[in-house]
Amino acid sequence: MGLDIRDPGTFQGPDAPSDDDLSTCVHCGLCLNYCPTFRVTGLETESPRGRIYLMTQWKRGGLPFTEELVRHIDLCLGCRTCEAVCPSGVPYGRIIEHGRAEVERLRRPNPKSLLVRQTMRQLLGHPVRLQAAGAMTRLGQALRLTGLVPQSRVLPRLTGAYRPPAGRVAPPIGERRFRVAFLLGCVMPIFYRPAHEASVKLLQLAGCEVWFPRGQRCCGALFAHNGDLEGARGLREVNQRAFGMEDFDYLLVNSAGCGSHLKDFYPNLGTRVRDLFEFLAEVGLPEPRQEVPLRVTYQDACHLVHAQRIRKPPRQLLKSIPGLEFVEMAHADICCGSAGIYNAVQPEMSERILAEKMEDLLSVQPQVVVTANPGCQMQLEAGLRARGRQEVAVKHLAEVIAAAY
Ligand code: SF4
Ligand code: SF4
Repeated sequence: MGLDIRDPGTFQGPDAPSDDDLSTCVHCGLCLNYCPTFRVTGLETESPRGRIYLMTQWKRGGLPFTEELVRHIDLCLGCRTCEAVCPSGVPYGRIIEHGRAEVERLRRPNPKSLLVRQTMRQLLGHPVRLQAAGAMTRLGQALRLTGLVPQSRVLPRLTGAYRPPAGRVAPPIGERRFRVAFLLGCVMPIFYRPAHEASVKLLQLAGCEVWFPRGQRCCGALFAHNGDLEGARGLREVNQRAFGMEDFDYLLVNSAGCGSHLKDFYPNLGTRVRDLFEFLAEVGLPEPRQEVPLRVTYQDACHLVHAQRIRKPPRQLLKSIPGLEFVEMAHADICCGSAGIYNAVQPEMSERILAEKMEDLLSVQPQVVVTANPGCQMQLEAGLRARGRQEVAVKHLAEVIAAAY
């Protein structure tokens, strides 16, 4: 990798963790067995407590910036399970995002991380380029042109991008109760059109007029999680302008990672941001019109259950569907190993974590596994494909609920 500086981490910036934030860790160890990387390695250095200790020492000048240190920070999924279970209130999400930013500032970039960062900046921040890449990939998949299709074990089969309705407003079904803005996101419209279609239909059924602001871009979550805080800031400014053009009651998000990022890092919008299922469970849906006779299990997305603390609403909505048999799998709230682009940059650890997930998932014999984040959906699809278990479908939660209407 080539490290050239023996430099303490400065952890600067408006929301950077202070010494006080770091010292909230009282080393109790209650988080250890919830941490996916500790669970598979059993190593203190791959645990939340170990990583907090390393970053604290580094910030205080007690540890140099070494490849060893970087490896332990890189191997963290950023899933924030530790933050959710910590009795001491350690703000781990902020600590690791700034730790990553420091690593990116100091390390001599390796070709892989440079490529990932360049690709993110060139594609995710530019919807037109991303759609063109999606169309190329779709064509390559249809014609089985392996040279045209990016070689990735996680890439799903593409079916055509989601497009907002003419006039960029979808009317409510029945009486109008709310006017909501909808975050299209970067990968969701390209990879998971049916999820967006189902989400908008559910919002209309709940009495929402749904507005799709023109000029909105990727929310910047993937940038921030990978240490590119400057890239994330640029996108935040663009989006705050786009969503500021008209009035609305709530900003609805159907991707856990984006919802969490918007709530934490968009001060002008944060209080109006709602996860789709948090919102639907609160405002209610009409009586389901038909049975959905499926055996379904649910994988919590880390940024829904841990970062946003939304655990009950998705289960409550699933259980309200007539004919649907809900089965809870063990460790549903433990990360699947996707974690944004973690499965691309740390494939070995990601696969070890996924293997445990597949065991838990398959042991409850579902027909469908649902989740609420595109990264989790891709990872679960890839895990089932690799095991020849494609008879188990992976769906976005909105699709399964919308099937009852
Ligand atoms: S992060 Fe929280 S739970 Fe984990 S060791 Fe520190 S204080 Fe305990
Ligand atoms: S964010 Fe996840 S992987 Fe990282 S230390 Fe916390 S629990 Fe472990």
